Amino acid sequence: MHKIVILGAGYAGLMALTSVVGRTKKRDDVHVTLVNPSERFTERLRLHQVAAGRPVADFRLPDMLEGTGVELVRGWVTGIDATARTVRVDDEHVLTYDTLVYALGSVADTAVPGADEHAYTLDNAQNAALLAQRLTDPDTKTVAVCGSGLTGVEVAAEIAEAHPGLTVELLGRGEPGADFGPKAKAHLDATLDRLGVRVRAGVEITKVLPDSVALAGGGSVPADVVVWTSGVHVSPLPAAAGLEVDERGRVITDAALRSVSHPEIYVVGDAAAVRQTWGELHGTCQSGMPTGAHAGMSIARQLDGKEPKPFRFGYIHIPVSLGRGDAVVQFTKPDGTPRRWSLRGKRAVWYKETVSSAPWPTCGRMMRHPATASVWPHGGRRNR
Ligand SMILES: Cc1cc2nc3c(=O)[nH]c(=O)nc-3n(C[C@H](O)[C@H](O)[C@H](O)COP(=O)(O)OP(=O)(O)OC[C@H]3O[C@@H](n4cnc5c(N)ncnc54)[C@H](O)[C@@H]3O)c2cc1C
Repeated sequence: MHKIVILGAGYAGLMALTSVVGRTKKRDDVHVTLVNPSERFTERLRLHQVAAGRPVADFRLPDMLEGTGVELVRGWVTGIDATARTVRVDDEHVLTYDTLVYALGSVADTAVPGADEHAYTLDNAQNAALLAQRLTDPDTKTVAVCGSGLTGVEVAAEIAEAHPGLTVELLGRGEPGADFGPKAKAHLDATLDRLGVRVRAGVEITKVLPDSVALAGGGSVPADVVVWTSGVHVSPLPAAAGLEVDERGRVITDAALRSVSHPEIYVVGDAAAVRQTWGELHGTCQSGMPTGAHAGMSIARQLDGKEPKPFRFGYIHIPVSLGRGDAVVQFTKPDGTPRRWSLRGKRAVWYKETVSSAPWPTCGRMMRHPATASVWPHGGRRNR
């Protein structure tokens, strides 16, 4: 029996799972285990909607896995022994593997003093629900969203739209949408303005206090609620296990997405440092899901005695929601730099919703259905 253990049921982990299970369902010598702390899939790219008090779909992993033979282990991974090929879960269970898929994602980088204690993050559904509750507290009047990247933009716009009585400030080093083309950038700026989001770019946040945010140079911004979206960091587990990692702790992968130091470990999603000819992937669902699909395909190929193929990927778009009623989509070159085209307004809302909808109910049905073996997703645009 070849034991495949997949760590993390996020976008990348679930895509790896559906890809490998779909391709190996006719074999009886493969056992797949999925490890995740919750039996619900967290739609991380919709957590700003949860924070704004909007309902989102509920995906239960046991429903998706029913009839597939996949074992779901609920718990936190607390250690990996890459020599013995074991994984510790909750310091209680030990799982052995022949092939490991590491897909534990990333969390907000709260290294700035006070951020851990006083700021909300959108790392999981519980944090987002706590923030939602706090935003409806009558004492909450001002909200500072720290980080002017696209996550910060989505969070600020969603909160401002859902709670028009609150003062929402978006703070960060860069201009929101700085990497967009002129039309998309102008639409983003105008929408934030229409929603009443005050933008303060070019600021360095040095500390988060219970009632304000301190800025380099001595100024501060009063805030009843602080939301931290600036930067992400990854778990120290792979480095502690002796896997080769980059300066950000992400596992360095070979062309087939295997750890360069431990090729029996595939690494996908935000936790992987993946190089392409045009540069390095940055953590998004857009790239994370294809890495998962590719890893699943490669594992199936290896089980059939074939070599895995190299992963090839290029970005095509940056879709950004601006509340429920507006959005902007910047189309891009493979390296993420903007092309001339963008969608704005209602067409962008439709596009963003279409590309963001989680495919898991369909994946669950396909994993159970033997006739679908040939249609499993390939990771990367040029691997077909
Ligand atoms: C508010 C917000 C909006 C976003 N919007 C977009 C967007 O529009 N487009 C886009 O492409 N990206 C977006 N992103 C980024 C995107 O969500 C991430 O890039 C993506 O989730 C990464 O997928 P992943 O599978 O690597 O990790 P995740 O989706 O984070 O999944 C990791 C899984 O591993 C589990 N896990 C973590 N640690 C452990 C452990 N020790 N033991 C067991 N399980 C563990 C987690 O619970 C989770 O289930 C957004 C992020 C946020 C926060």
